[in-house]
Amino acid sequence: MTAKLILGTEVQATILKEIEAEVHKIKQERGVVPGLATILVGDNPASVSYVTLKVKTALSLGFKEVQDNQPADISEKDLLALIDKYNKDDSINGILVQLPLPKHIDEKKVINAIDPDKDVDGFHPVNVGRLMIGGSECKFPPCTPAGIQELIIRTGVETKGAEVVVVGRSNIVGKPIANMMLQKAKGANSTVTIVHTGTKDLAFHCLRADILIVAAGVPGLVKPEWIKPGACVIDVGVNRIGEKISEKTGKKVAILRGDVDFEKAKEIAGSITPVPGGVGPMTITMLMKNTLNSLKFKLGIA
Ligand code: NAD
Repeated sequence: MTAKLILGTEVQATILKEIEAEVHKIKQERGVVPGLATILVGDNPASVSYVTLKVKTALSLGFKEVQDNQPADISEKDLLALIDKYNKDDSINGILVQLPLPKHIDEKKVINAIDPDKDVDGFHPVNVGRLMIGGSECKFPPCTPAGIQELIIRTGVETKGAEVVVVGRSNIVGKPIANMMLQKAKGANSTVTIVHTGTKDLAFHCLRADILIVAAGVPGLVKPEWIKPGACVIDVGVNRIGEKISEKTGKKVAILRGDVDFEKAKEIAGSITPVPGGVGPMTITMLMKNTLNSLKFKLGIA
């Protein structure tokens, strides 16, 4: 059996079109567009490329986008003051501070300084609490977990009563997606198990999963024999295992692998995300959706 491929690139294109149409409609009817402030500290190449893509996507959707690049030696006090400025700016609905930050800045302080109603990354403790409560309380689900759930929903996989096993317990992927899948809601209502480095028998748990979500950051961690035949496998891992010359551009590019042995797993799973092209494109997509929703909450039309 060869699994159905779950292509984040395709789902992304559909959702971005939906967002663009809504932005257009709100602009026509209300004369406003979603505003996103993107704060980049320093010039870490990976962060620069993530921010560039976020800015490009926001502009392509008709958002107001403020790209605020700051030097790596900006003081914590000045960065907090900058966040305060955007908190007070009425034209800004979402504030994104690209992580990681330089060591002299306390990331927690920075995240906590963002107005929870503009925290489109969903990392502020208030939004983490809202996610835990679920339902209409949850305004900004964190982007990668929201993207994972959206992929599962749009693939048509039954989640109600499904055994969901999440590999990894990070605050940005493992814990929030586990919480989202156990809510009594569309695309959820599942029985959830989280496994991690303290788990005794990973294979035993993975093999029970109707939906297996893997976010460990360990290339090839999940072996094909750990996958239940027909399961839906969501591979969140993005691991750089080397470099190659791109056939398209002739430039050096990273060779990426997921946490699942894709080639063998796709012969066992019912559906599976590739790496790259699976979960990856969904993160930016859901950031855009959260920013649009932030404006809609403000206008009372969400
Ligand atoms: P993390 O390092 O913060 O957490 C990894 C988790 O996996 C930990 O909770 C750890 O307990 C668990 N783990 C690690 N090794 C394990 C093992 N051998 N057995 C069992 N559990 C193990 O990582 P993260 O931020 O959650 O990211 C995980 C992966 O997802 C990374 O490869 C990251 O690059 C990728 N990621 C992708 C996207 C995206 O596609 N948009 C977004 C976020 C993270």
